[in-house]
Amino acid sequence: MTMAHIVSVSGGKDSTALYLRAIERGLPFRAVFADTGNEHEWTYDFVRALPGLTGGPEIEWVKADFSRQLAKKRDYISRVWPAEGIDQAKVDRAVALLQPTGNPFLDLCLWKTRFPSSKTRFCTDETKLVPMFEAVQRPLLEQGMILISWQGVRHEESLARSGLPRLQKINPVPYSMPAAVRRAGEKWAAYAYRPLIDWKVEEVFAYHRRHNVPWNKLYDHGMGRVGCMPCIMCKKDEMLAISQRFPDHIDKVAEWETLVSEVSKRGNSTFFNVTDDPLLANGWEAEGYDWSLARTGIHARVEWSKTTRGGLQYDALALLQSDFNTSCNQWGACE
Ligand code: SF4
Repeated sequence: MTMAHIVSVSGGKDSTALYLRAIERGLPFRAVFADTGNEHEWTYDFVRALPGLTGGPEIEWVKADFSRQLAKKRDYISRVWPAEGIDQAKVDRAVALLQPTGNPFLDLCLWKTRFPSSKTRFCTDETKLVPMFEAVQRPLLEQGMILISWQGVRHEESLARSGLPRLQKINPVPYSMPAAVRRAGEKWAAYAYRPLIDWKVEEVFAYHRRHNVPWNKLYDHGMGRVGCMPCIMCKKDEMLAISQRFPDHIDKVAEWETLVSEVSKRGNSTFFNVTDDPLLANGWEAEGYDWSLARTGIHARVEWSKTTRGGLQYDALALLQSDFNTSCNQWGACE
């Protein structure tokens, strides 16, 4: 059987080092980038430039399309919401808004009528792994090839990643896909290969220098990680840095919150999960909790990110545990 080497590129430092490592190894490989629709424009520019900077292969660009799911959702809401007594004007408004925008992250949230959260992180599967699997990996596996999925994860990144082996037999089918496909995946010959697994972060940057390849300039502008801007797992200091340097991305999310709230039954959906709200004294179940976006939306979280005292953080345990047994951990699709 022939091996197919597939390198996942995200535009971050680790996946760039991975791409360089694959070039250095001299094996034929394909590189793939999943456009979530929530990346910084510098990341898109960087990924487009990478083959030219390195002499490496073109990077295949994949993008999830949720048109079919949105059509089903429109049909569901038209039929079910009126029967549940929901005001027809609200139903009509939701149906009118549930149209594909072409932005995968936004369309995913419109379809789900909510944003992902640390405990329900469907974004990685739906915007990254499924489109990569369908466009690149599945056709190779169905031809009987052995998939070697190169992943730029490192032990020191997190507790969840600290136990990952360098080479591991995997089921290549993303968790969110139907059970029948997952079962078929058990029989495919697929391996995760993690050549950077014991590298330290300094080695990753040094490797860029050795190859005379710049890293994504977001790292020089206060960003500790490259990926969605912002990520739903964004930490307090990172959110502050984004709001100061890239306020357009905060405004973008605020617009998304308004849209997704309009299609949600409760009329409120926030990028950062309300149940993780670090400002909650009495819990969101408390009577009189202010559900307005002004109180719960991203602009309110930005204001919180400016505070220096209080020690209030998102649910630290949830954040710590959220990488275990997830696509993010198994595939390292998010930095
Ligand atoms: S970077 Fe964050 S928001 Fe984006 S897909 Fe990964 S976990 Fe989700």
